[in-house]
Amino acid sequence: MDNTQMIYLDNAATTKVRPEVFEAMRPYLEEQYGNPSSAYAFAGRIAQKVDESRQTIAAFLGAKPQEIYFTGGGSESDNWTLKGIAEMYASKGRHIITTKIEHHAILHTAEYLEKKRGCEVTYLDVDENGMIDLKELEAAIRPDTILISVMFANNEIGTIEPVKEIGRIAHEHGVLFHTDAVQAFGHVAINVDELNIDLLSASGHKLNAPKGVGFLYVRTGVRIEPLIHGGAQERGKRAGTTNAAGIIAFGKAVELAAAEMEQRAAHEQKLRDHLISRVMAEIPYTRLNGHPTERLTNNANFCFRFIEGESLLLMLDRVGICGSSGSACTSGSLDPSHVLLAIGLPHEIAHGSLRLTLSEETTQEEIDYTVDKLKVIVDRLRSMSPLYEDFVKKQGK
Ligand SMILES: *Cc1c(COP(=O)(O)O)cnc(C)c1O
Repeated sequence: MDNTQMIYLDNAATTKVRPEVFEAMRPYLEEQYGNPSSAYAFAGRIAQKVDESRQTIAAFLGAKPQEIYFTGGGSESDNWTLKGIAEMYASKGRHIITTKIEHHAILHTAEYLEKKRGCEVTYLDVDENGMIDLKELEAAIRPDTILISVMFANNEIGTIEPVKEIGRIAHEHGVLFHTDAVQAFGHVAINVDELNIDLLSASGHKLNAPKGVGFLYVRTGVRIEPLIHGGAQERGKRAGTTNAAGIIAFGKAVELAAAEMEQRAAHEQKLRDHLISRVMAEIPYTRLNGHPTERLTNNANFCFRFIEGESLLLMLDRVGICGSSGSACTSGSLDPSHVLLAIGLPHEIAHGSLRLTLSEETTQEEIDYTVDKLKVIVDRLRSMSPLYEDFVKKQGK
Protein backbone atom coordinates (compact mmCIF):
# COMPACT_ATOMS: atom_id res chain seq x y z
CA MET A 1 0.00 0.00 0.00
CA ASP A 2 1.67 3.26 -0.96
CA ASN A 3 1.18 6.55 0.88
CA THR A 4 -1.33 7.96 -1.57
CA GLN A 5 -3.85 5.25 -0.67
CA MET A 6 -3.07 5.29 3.01
CA ILE A 7 -5.53 6.72 5.51
CA TYR A 8 -3.51 8.17 8.33
CA LEU A 9 -5.53 8.38 11.54
CA ASP A 10 -2.67 8.42 14.02
CA ASN A 11 -1.98 12.14 14.34
CA ALA A 12 -1.57 11.88 18.10
CA ALA A 13 1.53 9.74 17.46
CA THR A 14 3.02 12.16 15.00
CA THR A 15 1.99 14.49 12.19
CA LYS A 16 3.11 15.25 8.69
CA VAL A 17 5.46 18.19 8.18
CA ARG A 18 3.33 20.61 6.21
CA PRO A 19 4.78 21.87 2.90
CA GLU A 20 4.81 25.48 4.15
CA VAL A 21 6.76 24.34 7.21
CA PHE A 22 9.21 22.34 5.13
CA GLU A 23 9.77 25.30 2.80
CA ALA A 24 10.40 27.59 5.78
CA MET A 25 13.07 25.28 7.19
CA ARG A 26 14.72 24.21 3.93
CA PRO A 27 17.09 27.22 3.55
CA TYR A 28 18.42 26.55 7.05
CA LEU A 29 19.51 23.06 6.04
CA GLU A 30 20.91 24.14 2.66
CA GLU A 31 22.45 27.61 2.21
CA GLN A 32 21.94 28.96 5.75
CA TYR A 33 23.57 26.08 7.56
CA GLY A 34 25.68 28.12 9.98
CA ASN A 35 25.80 27.70 13.73
CA PRO A 36 23.66 30.54 15.08
CA SER A 37 26.06 31.02 18.02
CA SER A 38 28.98 31.98 15.74
CA ALA A 39 30.17 35.57 15.47
CA TYR A 40 29.93 36.31 11.72
CA ALA A 41 26.94 37.86 9.99
CA PHE A 42 26.15 34.55 8.20
CA ALA A 43 25.32 33.08 11.62
CA GLY A 44 23.73 36.21 13.02
CA ARG A 45 20.97 36.12 10.41
CA ILE A 46 20.11 32.60 11.48
CA ALA A 47 20.13 33.55 15.15
CA GLN A 48 17.68 36.29 14.25
CA LYS A 49 15.31 33.80 12.59
CA VAL A 50 15.53 31.55 15.66
CA ASP A 51 14.53 34.52 17.79
CA GLU A 52 11.61 35.27 15.49
CA SER A 53 10.35 31.74 16.14
CA ARG A 54 10.76 32.29 19.84
CA GLN A 55 8.70 35.49 19.56
CA THR A 56 5.97 33.82 17.51
CA ILE A 57 5.64 31.00 20.02
CA ALA A 58 5.76 33.31 23.03
CA ALA A 59 3.08 35.58 21.55
CA PHE A 60 0.87 32.57 20.83
CA LEU A 61 0.99 31.65 24.55
CA GLY A 62 0.80 35.17 25.94
CA ALA A 63 4.35 34.67 27.24
CA LYS A 64 7.62 36.59 26.91
CA PRO A 65 10.23 35.37 24.40
CA GLN A 66 12.81 34.92 27.17
CA GLU A 67 10.45 32.46 28.88
CA ILE A 68 10.68 30.00 25.94
CA TYR A 69 13.57 27.48 26.03
CA PHE A 70 13.94 25.26 22.98
CA THR A 71 14.58 21.58 23.66
CA GLY A 72 14.81 18.30 21.78
CA GLY A 73 11.08 17.56 22.18
CA GLY A 74 8.27 16.85 24.58
CA SER A 75 10.01 14.07 26.49
CA GLU A 76 13.00 16.29 27.21
CA SER A 77 10.78 19.16 28.35
CA ASP A 78 8.90 16.83 30.70
CA ASN A 79 12.11 15.30 32.09
CA TRP A 80 13.67 18.72 32.51
CA THR A 81 10.67 20.04 34.43
CA LEU A 82 10.47 17.27 36.97
CA LYS A 83 14.21 16.80 37.47
CA GLY A 84 15.08 20.50 37.25
CA ILE A 85 12.38 21.62 39.69
CA ALA A 86 12.99 18.73 42.10
CA GLU A 87 16.68 19.67 42.31
CA MET A 88 16.22 23.42 42.49
CA TYR A 89 13.51 23.32 45.15
CA ALA A 90 14.88 20.37 47.18
CA SER A 91 15.33 22.60 50.24
CA LYS A 92 11.62 23.51 50.15
CA GLY A 93 10.38 19.95 49.75
CA ARG A 94 10.44 16.71 47.84
CA HIS A 95 6.77 16.10 47.15
CA ILE A 96 5.33 16.17 43.62
CA ILE A 97 1.72 15.67 42.55
CA THR A 98 0.83 14.26 39.14
CA THR A 99 -1.81 11.90 37.71
CA LYS A 100 -2.09 8.26 36.75
CA ILE A 101 -2.79 9.11 33.11
CA GLU A 102 0.30 11.16 32.25
CA HIS A 103 2.53 10.32 29.32
CA HIS A 104 5.41 8.02 30.26
CA ALA A 105 7.82 10.96 29.89
CA ILE A 106 6.24 12.26 33.11
CA LEU A 107 5.39 8.95 34.81
CA HIS A 108 8.74 7.27 34.32
CA THR A 109 10.60 10.44 35.35
CA ALA A 110 8.48 10.67 38.51
CA GLU A 111 9.24 7.02 39.29
CA TYR A 112 12.95 7.69 38.75
CA LEU A 113 12.82 10.62 41.17
CA GLU A 114 11.11 8.41 43.77
CA LYS A 115 13.64 5.60 43.40
CA LYS A 116 16.86 7.56 42.97
CA ARG A 117 16.30 11.06 44.30
CA GLY A 118 14.24 10.57 47.45
CA CYS A 119 11.16 12.32 46.10
CA GLU A 120 7.62 11.41 47.06
CA VAL A 121 5.02 11.43 44.33
CA THR A 122 1.22 11.39 44.58
CA TYR A 123 -0.47 9.97 41.48
CA LEU A 124 -4.02 11.30 41.33
CA ASP A 125 -6.85 9.07 40.18
CA VAL A 126 -9.17 10.10 37.38
CA ASP A 127 -12.87 9.42 36.91
CA GLU A 128 -14.41 7.25 34.18
CA ASN A 129 -13.97 10.11 31.68
CA GLY A 130 -10.34 10.68 32.57
CA MET A 131 -10.88 13.86 34.61
CA ILE A 132 -9.01 14.56 37.83
CA ASP A 133 -10.97 15.64 40.91
CA LEU A 134 -10.02 19.15 42.05
CA LYS A 135 -10.90 18.42 45.68
CA GLU A 136 -8.63 15.39 45.63
CA LEU A 137 -5.90 17.54 44.14
CA GLU A 138 -6.25 20.16 46.84
CA ALA A 139 -6.30 17.51 49.58
CA ALA A 140 -3.06 16.02 48.23
CA ILE A 141 -1.11 19.28 48.65
CA ARG A 142 1.32 19.22 51.60
CA PRO A 143 3.69 21.82 53.06
CA ASP A 144 6.56 20.09 51.21
CA THR A 145 4.79 19.97 47.83
CA ILE A 146 6.93 21.74 45.23
CA LEU A 147 5.23 20.91 41.94
CA ILE A 148 1.90 19.88 40.45
CA SER A 149 2.20 18.40 36.95
CA VAL A 150 -1.06 17.62 35.16
CA MET A 151 -1.30 17.15 31.42
CA PHE A 152 -3.40 19.61 29.41
CA ALA A 153 -4.99 16.94 27.23
CA ASN A 154 -4.52 13.20 27.33
CA ASN A 155 -2.76 11.64 24.34
CA GLU A 156 -4.82 8.44 24.37
CA ILE A 157 -8.38 9.42 25.21
CA GLY A 158 -8.22 13.14 24.43
CA THR A 159 -9.71 14.36 27.72
CA ILE A 160 -8.91 17.99 28.49
CA GLU A 161 -8.17 18.63 32.17
CA PRO A 162 -9.44 21.68 34.10
CA VAL A 163 -6.09 23.42 33.73
CA LYS A 164 -7.10 26.90 34.87
CA GLU A 165 -8.58 25.58 38.13
CA ILE A 166 -5.57 23.35 38.74
CA GLY A 167 -3.29 26.36 38.33
CA ARG A 168 -5.45 28.46 40.65
CA ILE A 169 -5.33 25.80 43.38
CA ALA A 170 -1.57 25.36 42.94
CA HIS A 171 -0.98 29.10 43.31
CA GLU A 172 -3.27 29.45 46.34
CA HIS A 173 -0.95 26.97 48.03
CA GLY A 174 2.31 28.46 46.73
CA VAL A 175 3.02 25.43 44.53
CA LEU A 176 4.35 25.55 40.96
CA PHE A 177 2.14 24.23 38.17
CA HIS A 178 3.47 22.44 35.08
CA THR A 179 1.36 21.12 32.24
CA ASP A 180 2.37 18.68 29.51
CA ALA A 181 0.58 20.41 26.66
CA VAL A 182 2.16 18.33 23.88
CA GLN A 183 -1.25 17.22 22.55
CA ALA A 184 -3.08 20.49 23.20
CA PHE A 185 -0.55 23.04 21.97
CA GLY A 186 -1.71 24.54 18.68
CA HIS A 187 -5.09 22.79 18.93
CA VAL A 188 -6.57 24.58 21.93
CA ALA A 189 -6.20 28.28 22.82
CA ILE A 190 -3.66 28.59 25.63
CA ASN A 191 -2.73 31.74 27.51
CA VAL A 192 -0.28 30.97 30.29
CA ASP A 193 -1.38 33.93 32.44
CA GLU A 194 -5.11 33.28 32.16
CA LEU A 195 -4.60 29.57 32.83
CA ASN A 196 -2.17 30.06 35.76
CA ILE A 197 0.56 27.97 34.13
CA ASP A 198 4.18 28.21 35.37
CA LEU A 199 5.79 25.63 33.10
CA LEU A 200 4.53 24.10 29.85
CA SER A 201 5.92 21.37 27.57
CA ALA A 202 5.28 21.24 23.82
CA SER A 203 6.67 19.31 20.88
CA GLY A 204 7.04 20.22 17.21
CA HIS A 205 6.20 16.90 15.59
CA LYS A 206 2.71 16.81 17.09
CA LEU A 207 1.95 20.06 15.23
CA ASN A 208 3.24 19.64 11.66
CA ALA A 209 6.88 20.45 12.46
CA PRO A 210 9.69 17.86 12.40
CA LYS A 211 10.62 15.44 15.16
CA GLY A 212 13.35 16.43 17.59
CA VAL A 213 12.32 19.97 18.47
CA GLY A 214 10.21 21.17 21.37
CA PHE A 215 10.24 23.80 24.05
CA LEU A 216 9.67 24.38 27.71
CA TYR A 217 7.93 27.55 28.80
CA VAL A 218 9.27 28.68 32.19
CA ARG A 219 7.56 31.64 33.86
CA THR A 220 9.87 34.49 34.89
CA GLY A 221 10.85 33.99 38.53
CA VAL A 222 10.61 30.19 38.42
CA ARG A 223 14.05 28.71 38.98
CA ILE A 224 15.06 25.48 37.28
CA GLU A 225 18.32 23.50 37.15
CA PRO A 226 19.50 22.70 33.63
CA LEU A 227 19.12 19.13 32.42
CA ILE A 228 21.70 19.31 29.62
CA HIS A 229 25.01 20.92 30.59
CA GLY A 230 27.54 22.27 28.12
CA GLY A 231 27.50 25.43 26.02
CA ALA A 232 25.69 28.65 26.85
CA GLN A 233 22.79 28.18 24.42
CA GLU A 234 19.26 29.06 25.55
CA ARG A 235 20.62 31.57 28.07
CA GLY A 236 22.74 28.93 29.76
CA LYS A 237 19.75 26.75 30.58
CA ARG A 238 19.90 24.20 27.76
CA ALA A 239 23.21 23.37 26.14
CA GLY A 240 23.65 21.94 22.64
CA THR A 241 24.04 23.50 19.21
CA THR A 242 20.82 25.29 18.36
CA ASN A 243 18.53 23.24 16.12
CA ALA A 244 17.96 26.27 13.90
CA ALA A 245 16.09 24.51 11.09
CA GLY A 246 13.83 22.65 13.53
CA ILE A 247 13.09 25.77 15.56
CA ILE A 248 12.33 27.83 12.46
CA ALA A 249 10.02 25.06 11.27
CA PHE A 250 8.29 24.97 14.64
CA GLY A 251 7.81 28.75 14.49
CA LYS A 252 6.21 28.41 11.05
CA ALA A 253 3.92 25.62 12.27
CA VAL A 254 2.81 27.82 15.16
CA GLU A 255 2.21 30.74 12.81
CA LEU A 256 -0.09 28.46 10.75
CA ALA A 257 -1.78 27.09 13.87
CA ALA A 258 -2.43 30.60 15.13
CA ALA A 259 -4.09 31.56 11.86
CA GLU A 260 -6.05 28.34 11.34
CA MET A 261 -6.77 26.93 14.78
CA GLU A 262 -10.52 27.58 14.89
CA GLN A 263 -11.15 26.52 11.33
CA ARG A 264 -9.09 23.40 11.84
CA ALA A 265 -10.80 22.50 15.10
CA ALA A 266 -14.21 22.90 13.48
CA HIS A 267 -13.22 20.67 10.56
CA GLU A 268 -11.79 17.96 12.81
CA GLN A 269 -14.65 18.09 15.26
CA LYS A 270 -17.27 17.69 12.55
CA LEU A 271 -15.54 14.62 11.15
CA ARG A 272 -14.74 13.21 14.57
CA ASP A 273 -18.38 13.53 15.64
CA HIS A 274 -19.43 11.82 12.42
CA LEU A 275 -16.93 9.03 13.13
CA ILE A 276 -18.13 8.62 16.71
CA SER A 277 -21.82 8.64 15.88
CA ARG A 278 -21.42 6.12 13.06
CA VAL A 279 -19.26 3.76 15.12
CA MET A 280 -21.55 3.92 18.16
CA ALA A 281 -24.66 3.40 16.04
CA GLU A 282 -23.34 0.69 13.75
CA ILE A 283 -21.00 -1.41 15.89
CA PRO A 284 -22.63 -2.95 18.99
CA TYR A 285 -20.87 -3.50 22.34
CA THR A 286 -18.64 -0.48 21.81
CA ARG A 287 -17.56 2.09 24.35
CA LEU A 288 -16.33 5.62 23.64
CA ASN A 289 -13.41 6.39 25.92
CA GLY A 290 -12.61 9.88 27.15
CA HIS A 291 -14.81 12.80 28.08
CA PRO A 292 -17.89 13.23 25.87
CA THR A 293 -17.38 16.99 25.41
CA GLU A 294 -14.16 18.10 27.12
CA ARG A 295 -11.90 16.40 24.62
CA LEU A 296 -9.49 17.19 21.80
CA THR A 297 -11.32 17.90 18.57
CA ASN A 298 -9.33 15.29 16.65
CA ASN A 299 -9.49 12.36 19.08
CA ALA A 300 -11.76 9.32 19.12
CA ASN A 301 -10.95 6.30 21.28
CA PHE A 302 -13.11 3.19 21.38
CA CYS A 303 -13.17 -0.18 23.10
CA PHE A 304 -14.75 -3.01 21.13
CA ARG A 305 -15.72 -5.82 23.47
CA PHE A 306 -14.55 -9.36 22.78
CA ILE A 307 -11.67 -8.43 20.50
CA GLU A 308 -7.95 -7.73 20.68
CA GLY A 309 -6.79 -4.24 19.77
CA GLU A 310 -3.60 -5.62 18.23
CA SER A 311 -5.45 -7.88 15.78
CA LEU A 312 -7.75 -5.02 14.91
CA LEU A 313 -4.77 -2.77 14.10
CA LEU A 314 -3.17 -5.41 11.87
CA MET A 315 -6.37 -5.90 9.91
CA LEU A 316 -6.93 -2.17 9.56
CA ASP A 317 -3.37 -1.84 8.31
CA ARG A 318 -4.09 -4.40 5.60
CA VAL A 319 -6.81 -2.16 4.21
CA GLY A 320 -4.58 0.91 4.42
CA ILE A 321 -5.76 2.46 7.68
CA CYS A 322 -3.23 3.59 10.29
CA GLY A 323 -4.66 3.69 13.80
CA SER A 324 -3.29 2.97 17.24
CA SER A 325 -4.23 0.83 20.18
CA GLY A 326 -3.57 3.62 22.63
CA SER A 327 -0.17 5.17 22.42
CA ALA A 328 2.79 4.50 20.19
CA CYS A 329 4.95 4.16 23.27
CA THR A 330 3.16 1.15 24.72
CA SER A 331 2.56 -0.78 21.54
CA GLY A 332 4.67 -3.88 21.47
CA SER A 333 3.97 -4.53 25.13
CA LEU A 334 1.15 -6.82 26.13
CA ASP A 335 0.01 -4.68 29.04
CA PRO A 336 -3.17 -2.76 28.42
CA SER A 337 -2.88 1.00 28.46
CA HIS A 338 -2.34 2.56 31.88
CA VAL A 339 -4.81 5.27 30.87
CA LEU A 340 -7.63 2.83 30.11
CA LEU A 341 -6.97 1.00 33.38
CA ALA A 342 -7.01 4.35 35.24
CA ILE A 343 -10.48 5.17 33.88
CA GLY A 344 -11.62 1.88 35.42
CA LEU A 345 -11.81 -0.45 32.44
CA PRO A 346 -11.19 -4.12 33.17
CA HIS A 347 -8.17 -5.65 31.41
CA GLU A 348 -10.19 -7.64 28.88
CA ILE A 349 -12.05 -4.55 27.68
CA ALA A 350 -9.00 -2.27 27.74
CA HIS A 351 -7.30 -4.75 25.39
CA GLY A 352 -9.83 -4.08 22.65
CA SER A 353 -9.06 -0.40 22.24
CA LEU A 354 -8.59 1.68 19.12
CA ARG A 355 -7.48 5.29 18.95
CA LEU A 356 -8.16 7.24 15.77
CA THR A 357 -6.78 10.77 15.62
CA LEU A 358 -7.62 13.09 12.73
CA SER A 359 -5.75 15.93 11.05
CA GLU A 360 -6.63 19.06 9.11
CA GLU A 361 -6.36 16.92 5.95
CA THR A 362 -8.74 14.14 6.98
CA THR A 363 -11.80 13.86 4.73
CA GLN A 364 -15.34 12.57 5.19
CA GLU A 365 -14.63 9.88 2.55
CA GLU A 366 -11.72 8.62 4.63
CA ILE A 367 -13.88 8.48 7.75
CA ASP A 368 -16.69 6.65 5.94
CA TYR A 369 -14.26 4.16 4.39
CA THR A 370 -12.73 3.59 7.84
CA VAL A 371 -16.07 2.94 9.52
CA ASP A 372 -17.16 0.61 6.69
CA LYS A 373 -13.98 -1.44 7.07
CA LEU A 374 -14.07 -1.31 10.84
CA LYS A 375 -17.56 -2.82 10.91
CA VAL A 376 -16.50 -5.77 8.81
CA ILE A 377 -13.27 -6.33 10.71
CA VAL A 378 -14.86 -6.13 14.17
CA ASP A 379 -17.51 -8.60 12.98
CA ARG A 380 -14.86 -10.98 11.65
CA LEU A 381 -12.78 -10.84 14.83
CA ARG A 382 -15.85 -11.36 16.99
CA SER A 383 -16.91 -14.34 14.93
CA MET A 384 -13.54 -15.91 15.81
CA SER A 385 -13.72 -14.99 19.50
CA PRO A 386 -14.65 -17.70 22.04
CA LEU A 387 -15.62 -14.92 24.46
CA TYR A 388 -18.12 -13.58 21.99
CA GLU A 389 -19.49 -17.06 21.29
CA ASP A 390 -20.08 -17.62 25.03
CA PHE A 391 -21.69 -14.22 25.30
CA VAL A 392 -24.06 -14.85 22.41
CA LYS A 393 -25.03 -18.25 23.84
CA LYS A 394 -25.88 -16.67 27.20
CA GLN A 395 -27.86 -13.93 25.48
CA GLY A 396 -29.80 -16.59 23.60
CA LYS A 397 -31.00 -18.33 26.80
C1 LIG B 1 4.18 12.71 22.19
C2 LIG B 1 4.01 13.15 23.61
C3 LIG B 1 5.13 13.40 24.42
C4 LIG B 1 6.54 13.17 23.94
O1 LIG B 1 6.94 14.13 23.02
P1 LIG B 1 8.21 13.81 22.07
O2 LIG B 1 8.46 15.11 21.37
O3 LIG B 1 7.80 12.72 21.16
O4 LIG B 1 9.34 13.43 22.97
C5 LIG B 1 4.91 13.83 25.72
N1 LIG B 1 3.67 14.02 26.19
C6 LIG B 1 2.57 13.80 25.46
C7 LIG B 1 1.23 14.05 26.03
C8 LIG B 1 2.70 13.35 24.14
O5 LIG B 1 1.60 13.11 23.41
